[in-house]
Amino acid sequence: MIDYFAIESEHGSGLYAKQPVAFVRGRGAQLWDEHGEAYLDCMAGHGVANLGHAHPQVAAAISEQAAALITCPETYCNDRRSELLAQLCGLVPDLERAFFCNSGTEAVEAALKFARLSTGRTGIVATMRGFHGRTFGALSATWNRQYRAPFEPLVPGFRHVPYNNVAALAEAVDDETAAVILEGVQGEGGVHPAEPGYLEAAQQLCRQRGALLILDEVQTGYGRTGKMFAFQHWDVQPDLVCLAKSIAGGLPMGAVLIGSRVANLSPGLHGSTFGGSPLACAAALATLQVMRAEDIPAQAAEKGAALLAGLRAIDSPLIREVRGLGLMVGIEIKQKVAPYMQALLERRVVALPAGLTVIRLLPPLVIAREQIDRAVGALAEVLAGPLEG
Ligand code: PLP
Repeated sequence: MIDYFAIESEHGSGLYAKQPVAFVRGRGAQLWDEHGEAYLDCMAGHGVANLGHAHPQVAAAISEQAAALITCPETYCNDRRSELLAQLCGLVPDLERAFFCNSGTEAVEAALKFARLSTGRTGIVATMRGFHGRTFGALSATWNRQYRAPFEPLVPGFRHVPYNNVAALAEAVDDETAAVILEGVQGEGGVHPAEPGYLEAAQQLCRQRGALLILDEVQTGYGRTGKMFAFQHWDVQPDLVCLAKSIAGGLPMGAVLIGSRVANLSPGLHGSTFGGSPLACAAALATLQVMRAEDIPAQAAEKGAALLAGLRAIDSPLIREVRGLGLMVGIEIKQKVAPYMQALLERRVVALPAGLTVIRLLPPLVIAREQIDRAVGALAEVLAGPLEG
């Protein structure tokens, strides 16, 4: 039998702490390793596989499009891209244009550039615990020192304020601010939802002071929180919305939805070779269709409530707090999560950490109720008492 772990450890970049498990197949919220062993997937490829693995409609759209036309740069029009633009820009009022790229960090990078271009200002206000990606602009908006420090100096003009703190935001946004960038639920930072009124206050400040509001929906987007976009939980109208992860059913795709206050986008100022490829657009169209047909956001709301209730009923001295929105859930514990993640994996449940002390669950939104019960049962077992790290 081929030792995938040995090969990846020897020849991979070295940038990932690898688990000695090789997944070779998936269906819905289930993954199988090379030995045929089944795992319950509560990470969905870091929030990518919202429709589950190998969704038949998405798989069919990809294979049909691959046989028709895979690539077509945005300097030429394309049937699939036109269709997607029309559908995407009809999802919420005032976001009438879209820029396509290939990942979350690229979507953030583009939104930051658009904000500077539009306002002629350089300042960006981001938040503590925020995560926006790893390229230089996005990394400059990201908070975690561990990610930032080795690559300094970063892009000038960025500052970070405490999340969910309107007064700090009001103090930071001034007439040099091009944009405020926020997540509706901070994901990597430990699964912290915005408090009622926070995003509305951010929007108001931006409008008053001539800045743009960028909402990073890379992780929260497309149904995960129980609405198509997390910002729809609140009465807020962003100027730029960053999307990626789940929007093309698992194919790499990023997008920025662009509102009417964004100006000065003209030919040649920004672009992407792969952005808006017919293949990604076909996958994204199929994804949207399934989202609507199966009312995936409503499923996430209902199942998320069941998951939160199940987790909150666990009687464990280790749990500090269970929080989340829809199927974006964090369990903050009083110890480091690493041994608990390992214990979950031994029980064939794949979850994610968010920082040192939060176990994050981002299951496919099509997860079955009995699979939710299984996840809760496994968590109750591993959190029954302290484990050695
Ligand atoms: N923004 C948010 C909120 C994210 O959660 C992530 C990734 O986890 C990113 C941006 C970066 O996305 P990508 O890894 O596709 O570059």
